[in-house]
Amino acid sequence: MSEAQAATASAVAKDLAGQVAFVTGGGRGIGLAIARRLIAAGATVAIFDREVERAESAAQSLRDAGGTAHAYAADVASTESVDAAFAAAATQLQRVDVLVNNAGLTRDGLFVRMTDEQWNDVLNVNLGGAFRCSRAVARGMMKVRYGRIVNISSVVGLMGNAGQVNYSASKAGLLGMTKSLARELASRGVTVNAVCPGFIETEMTASLPEGARADMMAKIPLGRLGAPEEVAEVVAFLASPRAAYVTGQTWTVDGGMVME
Ligand code: NAD
Repeated sequence: MSEAQAATASAVAKDLAGQVAFVTGGGRGIGLAIARRLIAAGATVAIFDREVERAESAAQSLRDAGGTAHAYAADVASTESVDAAFAAAATQLQRVDVLVNNAGLTRDGLFVRMTDEQWNDVLNVNLGGAFRCSRAVARGMMKVRYGRIVNISSVVGLMGNAGQVNYSASKAGLLGMTKSLARELASRGVTVNAVCPGFIETEMTASLPEGARADMMAKIPLGRLGAPEEVAEVVAFLASPRAAYVTGQTWTVDGGMVME
């Protein structure tokens, strides 16, 4: 844990004490930062990731830092895999208070050359994954009349991006899903919100060519890429009891790139 992370951990409200939070794609990047932040707020965290070893080592690193974390192999593109992982977690952890649908991937390409596989892979993981995981937890949350679902969308879902027709469609779809599900679950005390990160420093953006990076930077009023921890901070609020009167909303964390 860095000094900044340690300072955050000691300063934050422990408003998730006794709660269990699930983070899909929590093996690295933004998901891992979210897991760390929710642990700092007192939660026990379950990491769902398709990459088993990555999930295990992420959970180990969280435990090494003093947190309570469990890893589950889960491919959010598969209903069978998602349901099996939630069943295993239910036996071990008993409850689901928070679900963060963060697992996502890109398969970029120019539209006229985009294959069915590129389209289906991205829609199945980014949008279908949030559908499957939310469905797996919704009934339990409704029953106890409490729950927080946070969907990690993207600014690309708001403003589009050449070469990312599949990705932006999946992320815009998540925003529609967020609003409809928020309306459906509101009367049961379950809130559903979306967070749209801008360009965040992770392995997903590390492979961008220098030219594309410079173009991006020019569009960000705050003049820099974001850190995963800066996304996690907003997620932690939406995942907490403090955000009880916030549902169906889109929170943009992008250095001011999109202003509406
Ligand atoms: P990342 O590639 O670093 O991490 C994604 C994690 O999700 C990986 O551990 C991966 O194994 C896991 N994953 C992928 N497919 C999965 C599946 N089918 N089932 C389970 N796990 C799966 O990505 P990141 O940059 O940390 O992005 C996290 C989320 O934030 C994604 O939804 C992404 O679209 C979104 N986002 C990222 C940025 C950015 O700039 N990095 C910007 C906007 C939105």
